[in-house]
Amino acid sequence: MPMKTIKGLKVTTAPSGAPVSRMRIGGRWEEGSSGEFLEVTSPATGAVVGFVPLGTRADAQRAIAAANAAKPKIAGLSVWERSKLCFAVADAIEKRKEDLARTLCLEQGKPYHAEALGEAGAAVAAFRNAGEQIKWLETACFPVEDRNKRAFSFLQPKGVFGIVTPWNFPLALPSIYYLAPGLAAGNAMVWVPAPTTSIIAEKLMECLIEAGVPDGVVNLVIGDGPEVGDEVVSNPGTDAIAFTGSSETGRIIASRGAGKPLMVELGGNGPTIVLADADLDTAAARAAAGCFANAGQICTSTERILVADAVHDAFVEKLVAAARAVRMGDPFDPATTMGPLNNEPNAQKVDAHLADARQRGASILFGGGRAEGLATRLHYQPTVITDLSPDSLLNVEETFGPVVPVLRFRDEEEAHRIVTKSRLGLSAAVFTQTIRHAFRWAEALRVGIVNVNEMSPYWETHIPAGGAAGTASGIGRTGGRHTLLEMSDLKTVTIDISR
Ligand code: NAD
Repeated sequence: MPMKTIKGLKVTTAPSGAPVSRMRIGGRWEEGSSGEFLEVTSPATGAVVGFVPLGTRADAQRAIAAANAAKPKIAGLSVWERSKLCFAVADAIEKRKEDLARTLCLEQGKPYHAEALGEAGAAVAAFRNAGEQIKWLETACFPVEDRNKRAFSFLQPKGVFGIVTPWNFPLALPSIYYLAPGLAAGNAMVWVPAPTTSIIAEKLMECLIEAGVPDGVVNLVIGDGPEVGDEVVSNPGTDAIAFTGSSETGRIIASRGAGKPLMVELGGNGPTIVLADADLDTAAARAAAGCFANAGQICTSTERILVADAVHDAFVEKLVAAARAVRMGDPFDPATTMGPLNNEPNAQKVDAHLADARQRGASILFGGGRAEGLATRLHYQPTVITDLSPDSLLNVEETFGPVVPVLRFRDEEEAHRIVTKSRLGLSAAVFTQTIRHAFRWAEALRVGIVNVNEMSPYWETHIPAGGAAGTASGIGRTGGRHTLLEMSDLKTVTIDISR
């Protein structure tokens, strides 16, 4: 019988030789009811890091029931009490920062010093920010026509949130986007992390418990997305859905969760536009950082760079120099700046996009495939490509790897034609030293966030970001008070005071 795998990882009924992680359902640690486990190997070293249970629909259903039972425990706290809880979670994460970063490094693949420690720090900040912002989230009192009426509104929790998250920032993203604002806003939650990064989810749950989050308020169900994720999204026991992942899965989620409030953060294909008057050193350094950070696995990564004809060659030279400076290797070596891709299906997508570019006549100036001589085949060479046909997959779809095509444009009309070949619209960057060009481009690009003279993944977590309407990049906005509002229900009360 062929070996069963999920996202390239082996399914087994006999975990041994490494720790077995657990799910958290209604205040109890559990191994789930399937008797099957996923063998999690490090994308960076190839070593077995641990085993995670493959949950079933029945496990997800029990978690949903537990969250419903626990709803009053969190909704009944005052805003000040919930804020205090968020700060306690932040402290618990901070205390274990090194251990969490070590797990991130081993399980997700990102280098410990260059990236994993920073991600752990972002999770700390997420809980502090949510705890702070919820306290100052005012609602309105409305002037009315009838002199005998008074009207005002206040925020209530939405109830039980079903939350499904990806593997690219498996500690910071669930914290920033959903768990911290979810707790602050008073919701109970059932969380399904990506199967390749579920060990870190167990560790984050330990921090929540240490901080005193009541049993059943946050439940962790580990398993295959189409199984446990689908149950959480479609089950009538979840009142609202929060999903981050690919546009393809997002479409399924939107139909399976139809009728519920949906927060959907999807894929991106961030264009970076370098105009002829840009500071080329800054543009090349920042665009390169945006391409190679997290090995290109960021929804807002620099996925493609459009450069004005007059500065194309000079820019490309600087970009290649930046790609040459990237260091891969031992994930715990401070000199390592870029890790491997997280999983084999993702690496195969990058392979396919490169093959398509080659077939359409592109020139590979640097890199061009999997790196040789490293511990695993998931390491991908930083890659710079020119002479790309705008119809190439690299320009049209999200690649999610450290591969950057540079597309030449002669006038701004041509640049717009190239940009709009893609139906994605999450983020963009524009490099120019002229303020009117910056405004023109910022207003014209159909994306949720435009960074001028900064890389496209630059984000501070209280700034609103998300997919532009009419694109395939998502619904709603994430960031600080915007997330808190999305995770709350606005209730209006009118009072008659005539008698
Ligand atoms: P994915 O869509 O394959 O999976 C995301 C999550 O959904 C995983 O937990 C997976 O197990 C689960 N899932 C898969 N099929 C499901 C189904 N039918 N029902 C319910 N759940 C299901 O995405 P991925 O490969 O894990 O993550 C990478 C993608 O996430 C990229 O496209 C990236 O751009 C996107 N992303 C977006 C943002 C953002 O803020 N917009 C942030 C990070 C990542």
